[in-house]
Amino acid sequence: MKFEKVTIPEGDLIEYRDGKMVVGSKPIIGVLRGDGIGIDITPVMQNVVNAAVDKAYGGDRAIAWCPLYAGYEGLQKYGSEFPEETVEAIRYLKVAIKGPFTTPIGEETHVCLNCAHQQNHEGKCDNCGKTDSVCPRFRSINVRFRQYLDLFACVRPIKYFEGVPAPNKFANQVDFVIFRENTEDVYAGFDYERGSEMALAIIDLIKAKTGREIRPDSGIGVKPISLFGTERLVRKAIQWAIDQRLPSVTLVHKGNIMKFTEGSFAKWGYELAEREFKDQTISEKRVWDEFDGKVPDGKILIKDRIADSIFQQIQTRPGEYSVLATPNLNGDYLSDAAIALVGGLGLGPGANMSDTVGLFEATHGTAPKYTGMDKVNPGSLILSAVMMLEHLGWNEAAILIRKGLSEAIQQGRVTYDLARLMRGEGREDIEELSCSGFGNAIIERM
Ligand code: NAD
Repeated sequence: MKFEKVTIPEGDLIEYRDGKMVVGSKPIIGVLRGDGIGIDITPVMQNVVNAAVDKAYGGDRAIAWCPLYAGYEGLQKYGSEFPEETVEAIRYLKVAIKGPFTTPIGEETHVCLNCAHQQNHEGKCDNCGKTDSVCPRFRSINVRFRQYLDLFACVRPIKYFEGVPAPNKFANQVDFVIFRENTEDVYAGFDYERGSEMALAIIDLIKAKTGREIRPDSGIGVKPISLFGTERLVRKAIQWAIDQRLPSVTLVHKGNIMKFTEGSFAKWGYELAEREFKDQTISEKRVWDEFDGKVPDGKILIKDRIADSIFQQIQTRPGEYSVLATPNLNGDYLSDAAIALVGGLGLGPGANMSDTVGLFEATHGTAPKYTGMDKVNPGSLILSAVMMLEHLGWNEAAILIRKGLSEAIQQGRVTYDLARLMRGEGREDIEELSCSGFGNAIIERM
């Protein structure tokens, strides 16, 4: 494949054969630096990954990093914050990792991709003074990657690291992965303003078909949850449990109230497990009906929980959950609540995935005031790289990074954000490190 501005390095293209990912000894991986603190955390992540791969495989394997451009770098290279070629290159390479990107949130007409300042004119940024970074407001780069690449699963591992101050006394039992459906539900974009033609038409239709009234001054949202969308998400969650040897998959839903959307999500999930993973899985009902409540050896337990109950369960019995599959809205709330259990967003990794593309990412934003200061915590992006290595099947390297990171934190060798929290808990042995210093501390402890 020919690209105009992307240089594909020497290495092995990741391929799918008979539905299975084939990874050579030097896979080519896309890397998007991101805006703001992306310039600090991305090279640190690459150093940590290179060191882990080298240590795990003694030089027999390596990552061939392929720089790709979006956000500020996209504007510089292509004149667009979201270049089509970058999307095509991710599709071609199949695995990429990215830093955070600026997203305009206010009403202003222009945004600066260097410092995220928003203003009502082009040209020089009123905040940072740069003259090559201001562009007209645009739709979220992250959302467009998801839509253009049909990345239907938002994957968020939630795990406690010893030493991180966390509000929950069972935090050390927290170790689960949330698979959130990314394309449907009330986020699918069918949201109609009060009094609009669509809102009034839907109100009329419901009245005509059911005789029931919706107040005419209502805004109306539509909540599509399809068999197709549910099955591909649940399939991915179960496959992850199989690949990572995890004991259960929990279908999270609000089917007691919304029977044909949320309820169907659970029903279709069970049916899919029974049909496609019959040998590897067993439903909670069968475990009680046939095995006296004891899961047979080697089987993955498929269970379901009502959404409000799961918010209690992850606080009171987090150890009972290892993979949670959820529709879009529940998953959004649950991911943020869950990460708070283990001490906040700083270390939360994430990925957005389709059946053929995995885009791994830092889950925090561009924190522009810290850009270029070598100060912030690279943990989120590094742990996203750990997920990426697991996705490639390079678990030995992933384990080394987890070990290095856990030990650095336990020993109080951390960036300013964790240092502040840990000192607040009375730790007196904390050594505050820079962003790159934290990366080196991880490497030294692999
Ligand atoms: P933010 O996450 O960038 O920063 C909020 C605060 O969190 C920072 O001031 C900093 O104190 C702290 N912080 C964030 N990341 C940190 C890290 N790695 N280490 C230590 N401290 C960290 O959120 P914001 O200020 O609301 O957003 C800034 C820009 O980032 C906006 O343009 C926003 O739209 C964008 N954003 C992007 C993503 C993404 O690309 N995934 C996610 C969220 C926000």
